[in-house]
Formats: sequence, structure tokens, C-alpha cells
Amino acid sequence: MATVVLKPGKERRLRAGHAWVYAGEVAKITGTVADGDAVAVRDAKGRPLGRGLLNRQSQIVVRRYTSGGEDFDEAWLRERIRAAESYRLAVYGGEVTSYRLVFGESDLVPGLVVDRYGDCLVMQALTLGVERRKREVLAILEREFGPRAIVERSDVHTRELEGLQPVKGVVAGRLDGPVEIECAGLRWEVDLLEDQKTGFFLDQRDNYRCVAAWAAGRRVLDCFSYHGGFGLVTAAAGAKSVELVEISESAVARARRNAERNGLLGRVEFVCANAFDVLKQWDKERKRYELIVLDPPSFTRTKDRVGEAVRGYKEINLRALKMLEAGGLLATFTCSHHVGWALFEAIVRDAAADARRTVRLVQRLTQARDHPVALGIEETEYLRGLLLQVMA
Ligand code: SAH
Repeated sequence: MATVVLKPGKERRLRAGHAWVYAGEVAKITGTVADGDAVAVRDAKGRPLGRGLLNRQSQIVVRRYTSGGEDFDEAWLRERIRAAESYRLAVYGGEVTSYRLVFGESDLVPGLVVDRYGDCLVMQALTLGVERRKREVLAILEREFGPRAIVERSDVHTRELEGLQPVKGVVAGRLDGPVEIECAGLRWEVDLLEDQKTGFFLDQRDNYRCVAAWAAGRRVLDCFSYHGGFGLVTAAAGAKSVELVEISESAVARARRNAERNGLLGRVEFVCANAFDVLKQWDKERKRYELIVLDPPSFTRTKDRVGEAVRGYKEINLRALKMLEAGGLLATFTCSHHVGWALFEAIVRDAAADARRTVRLVQRLTQARDHPVALGIEETEYLRGLLLQVMA
């Protein structure tokens, strides 16, 4: 097997539990090998660091899948996918039927994502290593789960970094339009081919419950509401009123259908507008709420634009904090990888100071447990939220 030998000192990240080797850390590659193949990794003194999949076209040249010596073959893949399934069963006890089944590095299959939506599966091949093994992956998924359909949603911009084109389509079975799934006690329409991510914000499942627990009797504002997520679960949990603000017309139309599907149509109001403008305007008009949710899209994908993102988060959090009654709650999120806990908390702390509100932290929120964080790989943690209560 070909071996990737690291420069002196460059083994530290792998030793600390990370899985990636960057191009600049490689001293040499011995043996002939094609991109996508498995390679052994060794430090500068020749000590073994495990095995990974190679792609010299990417800045991340190796993604380690084992610190031992196993092959990345069909048996390995099947074993990892089975283990991934039993972890989800252990976490959700079988009553949850839509969840992330495989979460890449966190399940020791770097580059592979598989989501289960009832009897359908959606897969993403995010790296060349997985792209090359798609046939094996699909065969295992068909055999292990017997899905009605498998959809590929490899239409993500990060594939470019691997030298790959975006791909999407039904790759096994049949799909006749959107599916219906169950999540957080409600039913949702999901278009597995067109909706954001692989179809649904499965990563917010646990947070829907946490936020809904505070909703009864409160006036709720859900900003960046997409297909209704937080707004509808709070309405179902007995909120006094719910307003959803979302910029995309098609997302609002879907949220309306989801409300109808759950008998909540009369209990929620939809506003199709820019949440920045709405918050500014309604703050001026002195509208007041007892629970506000802010779940915006990532304001930055790159490190050099964090400054702009910070201003965006600061503005919406400031306005929301001003609009809450004493005792009111703010559930505020960031899914920008480059905005870590410390920075996010500092932004919200500054917003509270500027709004002259005294705020306490009820709970930190993160991605649902079917998207586990690999402790050594900080990139696997991307969703951060704060559930706050305005004291005065
Ligand atoms: N909370 C949702 C997910 C939100 S995704 C859920 O649980 O399902 C972010 C949403 O913000 C997207 O639907 C996007 O269309 C919307 N969005 C982006 N910019 C916006 C803006 N300036 N104002 C309002 N909505 C916006």
C-alpha cells in the first residue's frame, strides 16, 4: 500500500484525534497510487498513524478513516453503516423515523452523509474517496435497509474543492413527488430532490423540543422560518400567537401547507419579507413578544468574512432582545462554522448590553444527537444555539 509520510511535527493533529492531512503537511508519497485510493499514513519517523483516503486534487489530501490497519472495503463500509444505525437506535429508541444515519467523519466514513426519511434514503458523496465507492455504498444501503427510493444530493459547493461536479437525482427505486415525514410530533412535507440540505433541518429536531417546552401561552416570533420548523412546533405546543418571517415565497407556501397538514392554519401568521427589515420596523412600532427564534442561514462560509457575519448576528439579536417582554425567551442560532461558541456568546452579550437587557442563559443548544460531534474534529460541530431568558 502506498504511504503518505508527514513532515516532522505534522502528526500532532492526527494524534490529537483529527482526521485530516493538509497538502502542506506531506513530505512525500511512496508507491504508486490513484486519487480516491486508501493510503497508509506515517509520521516523519516512520511511525504509523492509520489509514485514509487520498485526493491530491484537494487541500485535504488525506481523510483518515482508521487509526489502525483496516482496508476501506465493502466489509468496512457495511460495518460502519450498521454501527451508525445502531447508534441512532440507541439515541432515539426507534420511535424517530427520520434522522441522519451516517454523518461522515463522526461515523468514521469521511465524506459520506446518509439521511433517512421514513422509507426513503438520501445520500451525499462529499469527497472523491466516497464518489469512487458510490456503487458499493448504494448496494449496502439497498441490502441493509430495503428503501423505497434512494436519492443522491451531492449538489453541494464543497465538492468543487474535491475536483467534483455537483450531482443530484433518484439513484434507486422510485420517488413520485414530495414525501411526508414525522418530526417533533408533527408531519412535514419534504421534497428530497429540491429542498435545502438533504430535504429537512433534521439537525434542529432536539431543539424544536427544547424551544416548544417554553411556548405555551406565549406570543411567538419565528424569524428565518423556512418550512415552518420552530413556528409550527411552538403553535402545536400551545403558543398564544405565532408569526413566521421568511424571505422565500416558496418556503412560506410550504410552511402554510405544513401548517394545514397539522391543523394549525388558523393559529399562525406568515410574513414573506426580509427579517432584518421586519425586526427593525416592528421594533420601531414597539411590537412585543414572549418568545423569539432566530435561525438565520450561515452568514459566512469563509474566515475572512466573519466580520460581516458578526454585524449581521449582532443586529438581529439586538432587535430581538429589545422586543422581548421581561421573562421572555430568545432562542438564537448560528450555523456558521467560523463563529465558535466564544464569539457567538460575545456577540449576543454585546447585543444584550446595547439593548440594556439583563439576560440569563437557560441552555446551550447544538445539532441533534444524530449529528454527533467527533471530539477531535472541530469542523463536525457547526450548529450552535443559546436559549436565553430576558430577566429585566
Ligand atoms: N428554522 C428553519 C431553518 C431556517 S434556514 C427550520 O427549522 O426549518 C434559514 C432560512 O432563512 C431559509 O429558509 C432562508 O430562505 C431564510 N432567509 C435567508 N435570508 C433571510 C432574510 N434576510 N430574511 C428572512 N428569511 C431569510
